[in-house]
Amino acid sequence: MSPRVPAAKAALKVRTKGKDSPRIGAHVSSAGHIDVAIDHGVELGAEMVQIFGAAPQMWRRKEHPETDIAAFRAKAAEHGIGPNFIHGVYLTNLATADPEHLEKGVATLTADMRLGSALGVAGVIFHVGSHKGLGFDHYLPQMAKAMRRVLDDSPDDIQLCIENNAGTGDSVCSSFEEIGRLMAAIGSDRVKVCVDTCHAYSAGYDLAVAEGLELALSEIEQEVGLGNVVAVHANDSKTPLGSGKDRHENIGWGSIGTAGFRNLFQRGAFQNAAWMLEVPGFEGGGPDALNLDILKAFRAGNRPPKIPDAPPPKERKSARGGSAKDRASKSGVKPGVKPVLKPGAAKKAPAKVTKKRAVAAAKKTAPAKNAHKSRATKSGTKKPARAKQA
Ligand SMILES: [Zn+2]
Ligand SMILES: [Zn+2]
Repeated sequence: MSPRVPAAKAALKVRTKGKDSPRIGAHVSSAGHIDVAIDHGVELGAEMVQIFGAAPQMWRRKEHPETDIAAFRAKAAEHGIGPNFIHGVYLTNLATADPEHLEKGVATLTADMRLGSALGVAGVIFHVGSHKGLGFDHYLPQMAKAMRRVLDDSPDDIQLCIENNAGTGDSVCSSFEEIGRLMAAIGSDRVKVCVDTCHAYSAGYDLAVAEGLELALSEIEQEVGLGNVVAVHANDSKTPLGSGKDRHENIGWGSIGTAGFRNLFQRGAFQNAAWMLEVPGFEGGGPDALNLDILKAFRAGNRPPKIPDAPPPKERKSARGGSAKDRASKSGVKPGVKPVLKPGAAKKAPAKVTKKRAVAAAKKTAPAKNAHKSRATKSGTKKPARAKQA
């Protein structure tokens, strides 16, 4: 384990209230030397950063030299960048049937937690995994035990953060109810939550309109506790509400839209969490200053800077998974048709959650979403009001 520098660490965790609360930052590259992540963050105007502790698609990890770790801490303290986070390796699956895969996941999470503590970051954010058909309940004890091992084998000054999933395939923890049950089974106050706005929207939580947001917030409060939400992945969604797809979009170009993000800030949702972008970037180079400036404008209650027009629908076809018509026929919902709840459709989501979200969708009214309306008019298509729960 690396030596601790308590004074520097305390400095990184200071949160300022007022005009720069919540903190707004971005996922940045740490390729080469891990401390360059802070340089990239400063260049973008980020107030905090998220980095990968290791190549996200590989189990093999490279050791970070002590000098790089010390430089990361020094630069973060110097520029007041924080609280920072590590994003875990995508291969991790704590709901796997393969014991070897499980062990690799525990090992890589533990390594990220130790690295994170050395770097002085607040937490490690990760996707719990996918159950391949056997269900959340089947793997609940295994997932809880694995996370307890990670916590036991890592310094206690760093948090392990469960990120909500988009509902893709058999992913676990796409509902806050499942996240809450997993947290309860672990029973540690070092387990926290990261809310990804794109994933939540794709999983059927309509954060884009006031009523849907209220329902989502009350469910989050009830199931996991709003105080446990320490991070927000602020991403717009390329796909419609309830698509079950994990496709991040630049702020304003997606289905949540500028109105949705303005709504989140006006409501004061997740005020004490660090907000970070994981978006493709308006120029395609990843999170950029413009995406940051849009969020900062909403935080300040100002009008957002001008957002460039989204590329024509044709160019975005593959990213959006087909035309609006294709998506609608796949999801069983016709564009522009009044939202309908199919009770049998939400086979993985708990009945209680589904009902709540259905109410939110049913209450939703078109005039509340002017941002979507204008974009829909541009592309000649209408966003399906409610897609089937994937
Ligand atoms: Zn995310
Ligand atoms: Zn995602």
